Amino acid sequence: MNKPIYMDYAATTFVKPEVLEEMLPYFTEHFGNPSSIYALSRETKKAIDKARDRVAKAINAESNEIYFTGGGSEADNWALKGVAFANKNKGNHIITTKIEHHAILHACEYLQKNGFEVTYLPVDEYGFVKIEDLKKAITDKTILISIMFANNEIGTIQPIKEIGKLCRDRKILFHTDAVQAIGNIPVDVKDMNIDLMSMAAHKIYGPKGTGALYIRRGVKIDNLIHGGGQERARRAGTENVAGIVGFGKACELATADMEKHAERLIKLRDRLINGLLKIPYSRLNGPYKEGRLPGNVNICFKFIEGEAILLLLDSMGICASSGSACTSGSLDPSHVLLAIGLPHEIAHGSLRLSLGDKNTEEEVDYVIETVEKVVFRLREMSPLWDDFLKKGEQ
Ligand SMILES: *Cc1c(COP(=O)(O)O)cnc(C)c1O
Repeated sequence: MNKPIYMDYAATTFVKPEVLEEMLPYFTEHFGNPSSIYALSRETKKAIDKARDRVAKAINAESNEIYFTGGGSEADNWALKGVAFANKNKGNHIITTKIEHHAILHACEYLQKNGFEVTYLPVDEYGFVKIEDLKKAITDKTILISIMFANNEIGTIQPIKEIGKLCRDRKILFHTDAVQAIGNIPVDVKDMNIDLMSMAAHKIYGPKGTGALYIRRGVKIDNLIHGGGQERARRAGTENVAGIVGFGKACELATADMEKHAERLIKLRDRLINGLLKIPYSRLNGPYKEGRLPGNVNICFKFIEGEAILLLLDSMGICASSGSACTSGSLDPSHVLLAIGLPHEIAHGSLRLSLGDKNTEEEVDYVIETVEKVVFRLREMSPLWDDFLKKGEQ
């Protein structure tokens, strides 16, 4: 196989041709500033309105509850800091989890330096938050609960509807990072009592650098960028028109064929999981079937380093990752794998393969075969494996 096999869709996706096609005129012909008053600009203004309608429809929100941002991290930062600072007269306590994306965790650390208290909820061995733990963590100072919809490393889907109901009953604002959920599983902000929700276009076959924060009408939140009147003056700056148009189209496509898309990925995912688990001393991270994202596979291989697996796979034309793209390059084990209880040495040996539109059964079979070879080869060179063969497992 000459072309690389891409199995890192949770890091980013290609842009679908239909999406690109809708974007292109907004770089050239329809370049007017949406805030100007002449006809050339009305065209771009209309395109943004249409995109906003499409994003809103995909999550069952109202159009005026969608605020375009420069991606998922920006939406996460805005939700946390914006709500914290706007509501600090009510309390200074925030609840989140130990397995959030760094856009949430690092924003929380920043808030802690600025007088807020943050509780990081533990998760069980599959990555699920326990409602009981959440209930116990709530105090009369709690102003915000932020729990991710689905985890980007191990694919765990949280009981968001149940969490949303609890938050609404206790009158505490609820934010969820749904970047990995959109287009893969049903998301309905009304039914699930979600107050704020982060989204990103480039995880659903849209362009990079575009996303949105859903803010339910009536939620108190500070403005993000002060300047002109764009995004109802909450996020000033001339809009990324082409990006927004692409995001709108990507949302429309993602929700239109979500069921078929998910069904196809689940088949490929389970084939991949079953094949990889035949390799001795391997372990699946995250839930086995129920509550797992359709395209997510995360497996540990004992006695070897995740980074070494990735380098060898790369040399054999397979694009994979060892968890989140943001932590690769650092030698810290994944905070998510530590949170589900893996010891450091095993948390280092994990491989995330995330499936998407272009993957085939043939590719899955080739990847299983190749990973098996790579794992055997690395174990042959591993002193840990050598020790294990001599002494047996401790
Ligand atoms: C990718 C991702 C983000 C960050 O989104 P960007 O658009 O890359 O800033 C945030 N949260 C989750 C769960 C993600 O997977």
